Amino acid sequence: MTLDLSSRRIQARPPLAGVKRGAASQDALKGLRLSHVVVPLKAALSDAKVLTGRQTPLVQFDLLVVEMESEAGETGMGYSYTLRAGGAGMFSLACEIAPRLLEEDPNDIDRLWEKLRWQVNSLGRGGMAYQTIAAFDTALWDMKARRAGLPLAKLLGAHRDHVRIYNSEGQYLQASIDGIKAAADRSLALGMGGIKLKVGQPDGQEDLRRIDALRRHLPDDIAMMIDANQQWDRTYALQFGRIVDDLGLAFIEEPLDAADFEGHAMLADALATPVATGEMLSSLDEAVQLMRTGGCDIAQFDAPRIGGITPFLKAMNVAEELRIDLAPHWMMELQVHLAAAYPQESWVEHFFSLEAAFNERLEIADGRVAVPARPGLGLTLSDASRDWTAARHDVGTVTRL
Ligand code: MG
Repeated sequence: MTLDLSSRRIQARPPLAGVKRGAASQDALKGLRLSHVVVPLKAALSDAKVLTGRQTPLVQFDLLVVEMESEAGETGMGYSYTLRAGGAGMFSLACEIAPRLLEEDPNDIDRLWEKLRWQVNSLGRGGMAYQTIAAFDTALWDMKARRAGLPLAKLLGAHRDHVRIYNSEGQYLQASIDGIKAAADRSLALGMGGIKLKVGQPDGQEDLRRIDALRRHLPDDIAMMIDANQQWDRTYALQFGRIVDDLGLAFIEEPLDAADFEGHAMLADALATPVATGEMLSSLDEAVQLMRTGGCDIAQFDAPRIGGITPFLKAMNVAEELRIDLAPHWMMELQVHLAAAYPQESWVEHFFSLEAAFNERLEIADGRVAVPARPGLGLTLSDASRDWTAARHDVGTVTRL
């Protein structure tokens, strides 16, 4: 069998548009500074993954920080993170791929995300590969917003200038009932609009006692959430969810394994309480699959974990189309800009532990956090973060950083 090429034609494919810096480029990256920062926590945190013996208490977190500057004198700062393991690995990978951004126009963020993605393609489409890209992507968005003189939320197109905020630190499993009440009081005094209690005690009855005690303790207008950190199975989660279904909880978070999209969809169908999940997903593909499966009433995507602001915005578009609410995970200083740019009212998650990394503090009052008015993310690395820097590497020419 041979092809008769005299009668068969296939059109030549044009080269992929935009894979190179083009004639319309307006600026060029000339230097990048990469830092691996290890931020200690004031107190160790234990969620249900620790009680099931799968993880050790969290005592620190690792930041990959990317600072960049351009020929035109613009600067940008972005970051990504990991918990327990992988900080040095992300930093090492970042050092390998950073030179690929030199001389590129930092305005072409989507194209540069694609360029980096193909650099790490062999490592997989997600995980550490994408979390490393996230730090570069966020720095590019920060630079673009600073160049425009706008807060990131305004550059994206904000729907509001403050976002609902809740706190869960102090509500971990090792705390006593008196302890969670006292921690909730401290959070409310700071203006939080909700309190999230960790669940997943070995004795489920103890979880119910803690939920009941906290709900009775909180004012009626303060939202309450619970978070099982993926440690239940479908049957237990359904039984538990039905018992607490009349409490009016704002959401039940990660009742099941993060990859059990169908199980989460079953619970979302069966319970009146909204089901929230998505924080563990590390790619746009996974996020879209979760939403299209009906696996969440509230999407908790985490911009650094999903690969940066660029894929997060694409996930937001799908969430909006499917009328899914948003409550981004962790990294509140970054997520507040994204939550403010989402059409539906969102929640941002507050952690005291994150504050030490930056010089700036979020303004919280009446259950809401103000979107910072400073250009870009509105963040600068704290002196403490400079002290906690375990490794640093410059690429290209760094003069202003
Ligand atoms: Mg969680």
